[in-house]
Amino acid sequence: MASWRDNVRRVTPYTPGEQPHVAGMIKLNTNEDPYPPAPEVIKALQEVPAGDLRLYPDPAASDLVNAIAAYHGVSPDQVFVGVGSDDVLAVAFMTFFNSGKPIFFPDITYSFYPVWAELFRIPYETKALGEIFEIRPEDYAGGNGGVVFPNPNAPTSRLENLDTVENILQNNPESAVIVDEAYIDFAGNGKDSGVFSALSLLNKYENLLVVRTFSKSRSLAGMRIGYAIGSAEMIKAMSDDRYSFNSYTMNRTAIAAGTAAIGNEEYFRSCIAKVIATRERAKAEFTALGFTYPEPSGNFIFVSHPACPAKELFSALRSRHIYVRYFDVPRIDNCLRVTIGTDEQMEALFDFLKEYMA
Ligand code: PMP
Repeated sequence: MASWRDNVRRVTPYTPGEQPHVAGMIKLNTNEDPYPPAPEVIKALQEVPAGDLRLYPDPAASDLVNAIAAYHGVSPDQVFVGVGSDDVLAVAFMTFFNSGKPIFFPDITYSFYPVWAELFRIPYETKALGEIFEIRPEDYAGGNGGVVFPNPNAPTSRLENLDTVENILQNNPESAVIVDEAYIDFAGNGKDSGVFSALSLLNKYENLLVVRTFSKSRSLAGMRIGYAIGSAEMIKAMSDDRYSFNSYTMNRTAIAAGTAAIGNEEYFRSCIAKVIATRERAKAEFTALGFTYPEPSGNFIFVSHPACPAKELFSALRSRHIYVRYFDVPRIDNCLRVTIGTDEQMEALFDFLKEYMA
């Protein structure tokens, strides 16, 4: 007999990183920023009139959109905002990947991509990263229903240079190409991260969508703010889909916090510089202990040890309330993704590792 159960849209969900509540834990498992958001954000949150919460927010989130547009020197009609970049990416998948042809993304990448593809019934093909986890642009040449990849990639933290990104765009004039730049602010020495961003290619490619987040470099994972920048035509298509689904995605506090966060460039740069300095020290410590890793360009490092199985190390760390991320999937099942925390947090990690591996 037919049942409503036969008609359920089933999907294997994304598994978010653990959010444990353990006093004194060292949380290096979900690539959050270890520093608090800018003081202006805290002030802005205190100043949101609680009485106004009875009113719907601005559906266009104009304050936030205008601040992001001014920051990047683009027109406001080139900016789309959402509830974290997960929301922005989900809308982009729904909007752009409708050809019936498979979309392409790397075999080792953000594990949410195949979930959205399944949810929206988008066929997909994964393309194997090379020996050193590099994207091979020739694998993405044409014949697809779209392309999406993070740069820097996750969980590898490896950055592709702009030539590789442009090569993929040149080979895909007929597909939407989404570059997920969740971690781009940590590329290079931080100050020069703009030179690695696909934003500089926007004027040349009307099919390019660059996705960013406030969750990492702006220390606002808890507020859920992400955005995309692309041609006005792409942004209009995404907005039409979003208004057809949920027109008030950005709440009043998120709009206020996000707008305030954009205002303090100095604080933003100083937090990034601290994370990068700690990352450089962490690299040296991991190397001294015999770990290897692709050159990290995000606020995390993807380490592997020839003699110390990652799965066991993950459990040992966890039992000491040091949380890192382990993915039990082929090719990377001997790797750990370690978020860069404060110097003190990293010191505790290395103290443990030295003892464990002695
Ligand atoms: N893209 C990548 C590559 C990520 O690692 C993450 C973080 N899980 C996201 C997007 C989503 O981040 P958020 O929704 O917090 O903006």
